[in-house]
Amino acid sequence: MTNRLKDTTMKDNTITSAVIIGAGIFGVSTGLHLARRGVRVTIVNDGPPANGASGRSLSWLNSARMRSEPYHRLRMAGIDRYRTLAARFPGVDWLRFEGGLTWDTEGEGNEIDAAYRYETSIGYDAQHLAAGDIARATPGLDARAITKQGAIFNPGEGWIDLPILIGLLLKEFATLGGTLVTDQGAASVMIEGGRAIGVETVTGARFTADAVVLATGPAVPKMAGDVGQTIGDGTPIALLVQTKPLAHPLRAVLNTPRVAVRPAPGGTFSLDADWAADEGVRVREDGSYDIDDAVVEALLDEASKVMEGNPKLEIASIGVGGKPIPGDGEPVVGALKAIPGYYVAFSHSGATLGLIVGELLAYEVATGTEHPMLATFRPERFTSQ
Ligand SMILES: Cc1cc2nc3c(=O)[nH]c(=O)nc-3n(C[C@H](O)[C@H](O)[C@H](O)COP(=O)(O)OP(=O)(O)OC[C@H]3O[C@@H](n4cnc5c(N)ncnc54)[C@H](O)[C@@H]3O)c2cc1C
Repeated sequence: MTNRLKDTTMKDNTITSAVIIGAGIFGVSTGLHLARRGVRVTIVNDGPPANGASGRSLSWLNSARMRSEPYHRLRMAGIDRYRTLAARFPGVDWLRFEGGLTWDTEGEGNEIDAAYRYETSIGYDAQHLAAGDIARATPGLDARAITKQGAIFNPGEGWIDLPILIGLLLKEFATLGGTLVTDQGAASVMIEGGRAIGVETVTGARFTADAVVLATGPAVPKMAGDVGQTIGDGTPIALLVQTKPLAHPLRAVLNTPRVAVRPAPGGTFSLDADWAADEGVRVREDGSYDIDDAVVEALLDEASKVMEGNPKLEIASIGVGGKPIPGDGEPVVGALKAIPGYYVAFSHSGATLGLIVGELLAYEVATGTEHPMLATFRPERFTSQ
């Protein structure tokens, strides 16, 4: 492995074609970055793009609180790519950097002071504010909801609307000659002589290529398991509620003890909470979901309580399904070394990471060279345990 990267604008590819399963943010970002490098790319998805986790994500762009140093660096590089995008598209309503605000519940579990100290120690932009001071930093909060330990405001955080971003990336992908296949159902990786040689769909369509990327979100561990590869899986079922439009001054992404609230295009808000998914969603035997209306109403109430004026929030849509989370919480990106030509991308925080992971994985797929920023995120860490 080399620690010096070549100029990625040079076409130093060792392959000419790739096929990707999954048109979520990881698959589409990787596909576009490969196409930009001159690789011939086909993306195969089992329906319209963004019909998985990327279509029902809170999409808060952040590296808040504590995590491993390589993971923090990757997230900061992820945010950097969004800042570049925001500079190319100033003022759009699908990518905003208007900060994030977080506070904890009362009691021993309150980590606000420790999180603030840690964030400032690593240069992560953070302000520790008492309830009465928050209005000066960011508008639209009901300060009565904030606990006595106060809140952290992170001015550098933001949010992205992933379906809009995916649409934009796919437009450029098409102009570069990329092919998107959405009408052939589920796909699987074809392996011949121990190497990945392409992708086959349930309808029998086959796409051969020099390299295959598995970017099927929550389905990655199971699909890797089908070819004998272990990827630790901690994927829970998640629930995202989208509100109807509402004239409201809230601009920051809120991460609070009972609800996360994120402004969204058109004056709508996206809401989620782990407890709401745990209590409100039941998986039926056929794999579909039962949603408890009372729990969804309770989630709307929690959101209303943290918003200025406690507005009446109404449901526009509800998204339910797996939230991809690797078993050890860290991203899983790169080659499945036991099967040459086979690459994976599977991670939590895929909104924050979407652009950078696509860029670095495309570098690895195209050049066959490992990128040092992905060194601790290799899939084989699960097999060597
Ligand atoms: C409720 C919720 C909140 C979140 N909050 C945040 C946040 O605040 N910040 C953040 O950074 N991230 C957040 N995330 C995580 C982030 O949204 C995901 O990590 C990211 O969207 C995953 O993208 P993906 O491309 O890996 O998977 P997906 O978006 O799931 O894409 C995979 C695609 O593959 C398709 N597919 C699956 N199997 C097959 C098959 N066999 N053949 C063909 N196609 C197939 C699926 O239909 C899907 O379109 C959140 C996620 C959820 C669900």
